[in-house]
Formats: sequence, C-alpha cells, structure tokens
Amino acid sequence: MHLARFARRRYTPFATPIERMDHLTEHLGGANLWIKRDDLLGLAAGGNKTRKLEFLVADALEKGADTLITCGAVQSNHCRLTLGAAVKEGLKCRLVLEERVPGSYAADASGNNFLYKLLGVHGVTVVEGGTPLVDAMETVAAEVRAEGGTPYIIPGGGSNAIGSLGYVSCAMEILQQSFELGVEIHHVVCASGSGGTHSGLLTGLHASNSGIPVTGVSVRHPEAHQVAHIHKLAGAVADKLGVATPPAEAVTVLDAYVGEGYSLPTESMREAVQLFARHEGLLLDPVYTGKAAAGLVDQVRKGAFGKDDNVLFLHTGGAPTLFHYRGDVL
Ligand SMILES: *Cc1c(COP(=O)(O)O)cnc(C)c1O
Repeated sequence: MHLARFARRRYTPFATPIERMDHLTEHLGGANLWIKRDDLLGLAAGGNKTRKLEFLVADALEKGADTLITCGAVQSNHCRLTLGAAVKEGLKCRLVLEERVPGSYAADASGNNFLYKLLGVHGVTVVEGGTPLVDAMETVAAEVRAEGGTPYIIPGGGSNAIGSLGYVSCAMEILQQSFELGVEIHHVVCASGSGGTHSGLLTGLHASNSGIPVTGVSVRHPEAHQVAHIHKLAGAVADKLGVATPPAEAVTVLDAYVGEGYSLPTESMREAVQLFARHEGLLLDPVYTGKAAAGLVDQVRKGAFGKDDNVLFLHTGGAPTLFHYRGDVL
C-alpha cells in the first residue's frame, strides 16, 4: 500500500501505543484484551478524527482553502478536532451543529461545546435534526465566498475516501506493532458511526491480506443500513488506493448496543465506561467508545472470541464529552 502518494499533514509524531488490558481480561475471564490508544492522537484532546484530518486538511491546503467547514452533532468530537486542525494551520473554521436529539443544543453547555468557544470558532450554525447537512454546509460556504474567502467542506465525521485513508494507515500501523510486539492479533473491535474508521481499517487489513476480522459496533444506525454504508465507503477508499474492495461478507456490524438512539445513554454503556475506568484507568465516552466497549464486553461474556484470542479494541477518543454527560454515567 503506497500511502505516501497522498498529501498528508502530520498531527501525531508517533504510533499510538497498543497496551494490554490485564485487569479487564482477568475480570471478564475471556479473550486476551488489548487496546490501541487512538485517544492519544494529536490535536485538541485527540481521538480518531485526527487521523482522517491529516489527509483532509492536506487536501484543503492543496486546494488553497482558508476556511474549513464541517458538521456534527452538538457534542461533536469531529467538530472540535477540525477546529483544532484549523487553528494549527492558521485557517478559519465554521461549524454546522445538528440537534439530533431535540432541545439538546445549549449555548453554554460543557464538554465539546465549551471547547468550540475556547478554540475560537469562527461561526456556529445550529440546525434541527434531519436537516440535509450538505445543503446547510453549502449555505455556509456561500457566505464564506461572499466574504472573499475560500471554503473547504469536510463531510460529517471526516468520512469520505480521503478521510478513510487515515484508518488504512492505522491498519498498517497495527500490523507493524503486532509484529514488533510479537503478538498475533485475532480480532479488531471499533465503534462504527460515520464509518471512516471502520471502512479504513477493514480496507487496510483486507488489502494486506492479514485475515484479521473487524467488528464495528454501531452507535446509531441499524445493521443493514450500516453494513451497506461501510461496504460502499470501503469500496471508495479501495478504488482510491487501487486495491481490492473487501467483500460484503467481511463487513460485520453489531447494532444491539445503540439503545434508544444516537448519544442516548444505555445501562451497558454505563457499565462499560465504569469497567474501563476502574479496571484499567481508561476514560471512555458515553456516545461512542462506551457503547463500542459495551459490545466488546458482551461479546466476551457470550464467548464470541476464543479464550486465547488476542482482541484489540480501538479507543477512538471522546473523553471531553464525559463532562457534558456526567450525570448519565455516574
Ligand atoms: C466519530 C467518533 C467515532 C466513530 O468513528 P467514525 O469514523 O465516525 O465511524 C468513534 N469514537 C469517537 C470518540 C468519535 O468521535
């Protein structure tokens, strides 16, 4: 895989560690659990969007943009990190925030909302749940152009073929680290939302012929919807790279841990967040990694993995939202 062909900015000057989770492994009594610390990636408070932004922002700079525009939910890690990248590159940044849960936007809310202000966002537009976000971002782009600026639109979650390259690169990193550690990884488990993470990992692990399956734990959509979306996005990134698209059967999505809906707390999320905190000293978030970890914990308890298998959980970040949702977790 020849990733150096693509323009890239570098926001993390190291490979994120892979660590054993001995206490959690012992507590659950199933497979050997490992964690890939993508919560330690660069930019403001880290997380998976940083890897995608390395390729997306490089593309924006090549195209002469001076303003990044993106969208997300009201507590979006992706919006925080896009803004962080803009600040670092000397660009402006405008956000479109979708109130997916009615009444969930509060101008004075904590968590990421507070950080948008701290990082000096150049404009926030709040829209109702279900609003076509591409159109809303185009409207903001037209405003930027009218003011003489050059906008660059990054899709929700940074999940297009360019952004997903970040997780193809992560797949390469995992294989190299597994070799250096002398640990054969048998399964990778990650959250599956806008899909750049899941599809990039899947494409990279498939193209390198690793045979390592990826289980995506949905945080929003039902299985059929998410499988089709991941397969399509994997196809787009595979085409960009000139490698084989993973077969549809290789797309595994578990949708049993979403609960009532995106960002709404569940009992299993609460338990998983507490388990990771109290057994491993790791901070998960209520919206993504907490639900993905609930899936991991349940699958281990159900014996879905062999007792001697090495299962790698991808920590995609998100801890700033703990401060917003704290009452729902503890
Ligand atoms: C966005 C996000 C995810 C989901 O990643 P996608 O690539 O959008 O599927 C997982 N965890 C955290 C913390 C996120 O912010």
